[in-house]
Amino acid sequence: MLTVLFADRTQNWPAYEGALTAALAEAGLAARLVLPPVDPGSVDYIVYSPRGPVQDFTAYTRTKAVLSLWAGVERVVGNPTLTQPLCRMVDQGLERGMVEWVTGHVLRAHLNIDFFLSHQDGIWRQAGHVPPLAQDRSVVVLGLGALGGACATTLAALGFKVTGWSRTPKTLPGITCLAGAEGLREALSRAEILVTVLPNTPETTDLLNATTLALLPRGAVILNPGRGTLIDDAALLAALETGQIGHATLDVFRVEPLPPEHPYWAHPKVTVTPHIAAETRPASAARVIAENIRRFEAGEVPLHLVDRARGY
Ligand code: NAP
Repeated sequence: MLTVLFADRTQNWPAYEGALTAALAEAGLAARLVLPPVDPGSVDYIVYSPRGPVQDFTAYTRTKAVLSLWAGVERVVGNPTLTQPLCRMVDQGLERGMVEWVTGHVLRAHLNIDFFLSHQDGIWRQAGHVPPLAQDRSVVVLGLGALGGACATTLAALGFKVTGWSRTPKTLPGITCLAGAEGLREALSRAEILVTVLPNTPETTDLLNATTLALLPRGAVILNPGRGTLIDDAALLAALETGQIGHATLDVFRVEPLPPEHPYWAHPKVTVTPHIAAETRPASAARVIAENIRRFEAGEVPLHLVDRARGY
């Protein structure tokens, strides 16, 4: 009998208990789910969240793997007490959530919806306000992984001219794929709408700064559902001030919750959403966790293993 420790916030346990129990049974695993406090030496697998109670893994001498409920693993990847394999979350619920948030906000920018919402004043503003077709709008997605790749594919299916950028070269149907430093410059130069779906790593920190923001077409719109560290906030505020950036919709921040006094809240060209772009969904996530435990027990290659050196 395997012991699986649920190490997320206790308030999430009711949503996961049934889903994990069912998924472990479906995977043919004899396992008992436990909550802290528990003897660390008895735990085979840890279902992990950075908001959970287990952040020191030293005493978990029997644990075979740590299975993150989060896609982003920057808060655990460098943990020196973690010696076990770390798997991150890639699940259908996260992916569809991210695709819907990104598509919604891209269409909002593309159709200039904010303008019409704030001009319901009896004036018939037609001239100069017919939006271009998606085929004439260039959208750039930084990050072509599980989430960015799905967003880029959906945007391309809607007809947008989509360019994607990643660390390693990719081939995705209907998408111009770029990589490397030169690729980034090229991608930014064509981004009327820029979507950042990159992980937080030392290489991606402040990727959007005064220099790179200046490469975007004037008035570009930025959507950041990736991580707050991708953007130099002072540089973004300055670029909004000059009109270099037309609007930013931000879902993630260096400090969360975003403090009430932060200038983003009151900024007329910024929309804040409270880290809701993509949420792990218990039913589908539980199946990913169970499948990974099955793989570890069978000696098979696990899913979504984090490269600790790379940081994601
Ligand atoms: P993923 O599958 O690991 O994909 C990451 C992508 O970023 C890959 O295409 C990778 O390139 C690229 N990348 C990483 N470092 C890079 C660099 N230095 N230069 C260029 N490209 C780089 O991750 P994912 O599942 O798509 O998730 C992406 C991020 O979304 C997560 O890390 C998390 O921060 C964020 N997220 C946010 C929410 C939310 O609610 N706002 C929810 C979930 C996740 P390669 O393909 O070449 O490796």
